[in-house]
Amino acid sequence: MASDDMPESAEFPDLDQKMPVLFIGHGTPMNAIEDNAFSRAWAELGRQLPRPKAIVCISAHWETGGTRVTVAERPHTIHDFYGFPEPLKKMQYPAPGSPALAKFINKLVTKVRVAPDVDWGLDHGAWSVLYRMYPDADVPVIQLSLDCTKGAPFHYELGKALRPLRRKGVLVVGSGNIVHNLSTVVLEDTAFDWAVAFDRFVKEAIVAGKHSDVVYYQQLGETAAKAVPTNEHYLPLLYVLALREKHDEVEFFTEQVTLGSISMRSLRLG
Ligand code: ZN
Repeated sequence: MASDDMPESAEFPDLDQKMPVLFIGHGTPMNAIEDNAFSRAWAELGRQLPRPKAIVCISAHWETGGTRVTVAERPHTIHDFYGFPEPLKKMQYPAPGSPALAKFINKLVTKVRVAPDVDWGLDHGAWSVLYRMYPDADVPVIQLSLDCTKGAPFHYELGKALRPLRRKGVLVVGSGNIVHNLSTVVLEDTAFDWAVAFDRFVKEAIVAGKHSDVVYYQQLGETAAKAVPTNEHYLPLLYVLALREKHDEVEFFTEQVTLGSISMRSLRLG
C-alpha cells in the first residue's frame, strides 16, 4: 500500500494484485536436474503463481558481513558445490538481474545499509529452484545476502522492510531448509525423530501465527541445536514470515524430512 512516507519507484509502481511469498526447502542441488516430487512441485508453482515482474531470492548460500544486494545486469551462475555430476556443474541460469529493484530495496531498508554487490551472481540456492519454476530464465532475479554477523531477530526485522514489494509484482523467495544437519545425513529416505519434532514445531508455530517461536527457536534446546546446527538454511524462512499479512492463507507443500535430517518443507503465504 502506497503512503506518503513510503519510498516509491518509477519502475515498480503499486499493482492491484498482491504477490504470494515463498519459502522453498531446496535440499540437494540435484533437485535442479532430477525429476522428483520436489522439482515437480516447484515447476507447478511456476505455472500457478501470478507471473512476477521480478524475483528477490534470499538464499542460504550467500552469507556476508553486512547485508548486500546483487546489482549485476547479467548475474552469472555460481556452482557453489562439490562432488556433483558434470551436468549440474555445467548448468546455466541466465536470468537477467534488476539493478532498479536492487536500488529500490536500498530505499526500503533504512535501518541498515544494503551494500550493492557487483560480484555475486546466482548461487544454487536460487537457481536450482528457479530453473524449475521459470525454466526460460526470463524473470529478472536479484539476491539479498544474509548478514552472518547477526542473529535471527535481526533477519526477521529486516524482512519487514520488504513488505511493499508484494504490491509491486515482486516475488520474494526464501530458499533454505527448516532442518539442515549435514553431519547426520544418511543416504536414504528416512527421518530422525528429532528432525521431525523440530520441523513439526516450526509448522505449528507458523499455523498458530506465533512467529516469535520461530524466531526464538533456540528455546527448544537440544532439538533445535541438532536441527539447526548453523542457521544459514533456517534464516531465509524468517524473511518470508516477516512478509506475512493478516489474511494470508498458509499452504505447506513437500512436507517431508528426508536423508535423516533435511526438511524439505516449503510454504506459500497468500
Ligand atoms: Zn543448501
